[in-house]
Amino acid sequence: MEGLSLAQAKEMCRKALLEAGITDTADLDARLLLEKATSLSQIDLILHYDSPLGKEQATLLEGYLKARLDNEPIAYILQEKEFYGRTFKVDKRVLIPRPDTETLVDTAIVFAKTLKKNPKIIDVCTGSGCVGITLAAELAASVTLSDISEDALSVANENACSLLGHPLPLLKGNLLCPSDEKYDIIVSNPPYLTAIWCEEVAADVKKEPRLALEGFGNDGLDCIRTLIKQSTTHLEKGGSLMLECDYRQTAKVAELFRESGFTEIRSEKDLSLRERVIWG
Ligand code: GLN
Repeated sequence: MEGLSLAQAKEMCRKALLEAGITDTADLDARLLLEKATSLSQIDLILHYDSPLGKEQATLLEGYLKARLDNEPIAYILQEKEFYGRTFKVDKRVLIPRPDTETLVDTAIVFAKTLKKNPKIIDVCTGSGCVGITLAAELAASVTLSDISEDALSVANENACSLLGHPLPLLKGNLLCPSDEKYDIIVSNPPYLTAIWCEEVAADVKKEPRLALEGFGNDGLDCIRTLIKQSTTHLEKGGSLMLECDYRQTAKVAELFRESGFTEIRSEKDLSLRERVIWG
């Protein structure tokens, strides 16, 4: 693509994406890939549409396009994803933050503000750290991040340092196992897909860590089952456990909360108005 104008290069990417069946986001992806390859902002790109693509930029763009045509998620290629107004570094070691998970953050913020003291919070299955780091930024709270994946924790640590200016305490292990403390809020977007749902996800979602997606058990709820049980001994009096799950699971998850002695169990809807968060 060397020597093509930026406008021609963008059009070439767009067509290639359309032909590969990436129809919904072809135009957006083409622009984002070109912005990344040229290090230009959206506005500068428009101002320089007639300028030729240099050799180095062309090589970069061709590489990014090839990855995208191979269903690499755009966030992994750009190595970033916006969540709750902040830009998180992401790569294939972590799940890409989803807008629907902002519902979980909203729920935790509203509840935290009803507590008299600065809450102690743990974000279990933190992945990129998007949930816990956002809570640390939005609230006066002490936040711990935990994950079973060492790789995920190193991404979360980088995000904490760059977005907060300081690291957050990290715990490595299965759900709450590595902790012997009590918290006012246990918040988690754990893996909850069934093995069958994992097979049915879009081609780019298949590139995300299966460990972050599959919840185990016939109903995908084994991780959540364990987390609910563990939480009963890790919550301060009046504290809350808040979980994201699939809208087809909320009734069952509410029942699991009840069975473990939780009261005041509520659900919250996501941006598609589907029940997404259960807390109690
Ligand atoms: N907590 C992270 C997120 O919400 C990662 C979730 C996960 O790995 N299951 O994106």
